[in-house]
Amino acid sequence: MSAAASGEQPAQREATIVGAGLAGALMATLLAQRGWKVEVYESRGDPRIHGFAGGRSINLALAERGLHALRAADADRDVLAQAVMMRGRMVHPADGGTPQLQRYGRDDSEVIWSVSRGELNITLIDAAEAAGATLHFDRRLEAVDFAAQRAFYRGGGGLHRVGFQTLIGCDGAGSTLRAQMRQRADLGERIDWLGHGYKELEIPPAADGGFRIEPNALHIWPRGRYMCIALPNDERTFTVTLFMAMQDEGKGDPSFETVPDATAARALFERDFPDALPLIPELDHDFEANPIGTLGTLYLDRWHLGGHAVLIGDAAHAMVPFHGQGMNCAFEDCVALARHLDATPDLATAYAAFEAERMPDAAAIQKMALDNYIEMRDLVDDPGFLLQRELELA
Ligand code: FAD
Repeated sequence: MSAAASGEQPAQREATIVGAGLAGALMATLLAQRGWKVEVYESRGDPRIHGFAGGRSINLALAERGLHALRAADADRDVLAQAVMMRGRMVHPADGGTPQLQRYGRDDSEVIWSVSRGELNITLIDAAEAAGATLHFDRRLEAVDFAAQRAFYRGGGGLHRVGFQTLIGCDGAGSTLRAQMRQRADLGERIDWLGHGYKELEIPPAADGGFRIEPNALHIWPRGRYMCIALPNDERTFTVTLFMAMQDEGKGDPSFETVPDATAARALFERDFPDALPLIPELDHDFEANPIGTLGTLYLDRWHLGGHAVLIGDAAHAMVPFHGQGMNCAFEDCVALARHLDATPDLATAYAAFEAERMPDAAAIQKMALDNYIEMRDLVDDPGFLLQRELELA
């Protein structure tokens, strides 16, 4: 006899989520909305109190895949209220000629959105708490005893041992939970480093407080084997990201090895990005102060350990950012996992079904992201590519 038929209350389902980043906060919201008891452990402090300590891209492109997931959590309106619409790519030619807009779709029903990572994360943390999840900040997962179903978190001056029913790993590309799972089973893990990295710079607002360049576009300065992009922020700034090789590849292109400091960066911008240079008054400071980010693709053959633990988002399938889909894909994971958990009370079955559905999709998006680096840095101002694109849209 089922619990409902016998008049008993079914036991409340429980999950522990590791990481309150983008995937963790959305996953917590979706499960708490379904009546689960959700505990979330996050290594950083509460961004609503301490400010957001990002460490990675300041803003992100949100596409329909991600928006669909935010709708499922009823968080879409709050996120879009802070977003800036991007209708297409604004391509800045090397000869300093007039930038050209390449629309993403036929009209403004097919656009993407630039969102602040910090604001988005805070909106989702608020949504998770409002749905009933309990968040523990300043608690870094250190170790897991799967047999005893206990996890160990460091923070607040101590080591805390906490029991769990199941762990959902949303702790990003360098996932500690993944490392702990790897000690129990071969996950088939491999990482392909791209060999190219990035550095962020800022275009501040204009003197009148407005945007300095067209706000409703993702700006690209393609230069062959390297490029700059700029995404708008709602406070009328743009975050510029310079992508180039980490080391000299011997092809005469700049790299972070041959452009090691602000003086060399200024010379590079004078030569290759002359229309961007006057827009970035703090170029010297930004170049010296901001770290170089590295980029890679993470492949696993296995995302779960029976019903004990499952990985989602970057912890399962980190990718290079050139298709703007890492977060969007992580959000889709959350919706898919919640659906599989709805379908069966057996965690191992749900995790296996989730993995079977999402692993091929993630692999396809990872490949598209790698391919898009070539397209963005090289082909977007190629006449043959533009003609083909016009034919596709016609
Ligand atoms: P994360 O956002 O990395 O969150 C992980 C969380 O876990 C963090 O809060 C972290 O503090 C916490 N954590 C880590 N270790 C522990 C631990 N041991 N214990 C407890 N907590 C822990 N994606 C897009 O869709 N669009 C874009 O335009 C885009 N642009 C990008 C640009 C750049 C330069 C980069 C690097 C990435 C970009 N991405 C983009 C990808 C996107 O950032 C990631 O896919 C997304 O952040 C993944 O979310 P996540 O929650 O899985 O991981």
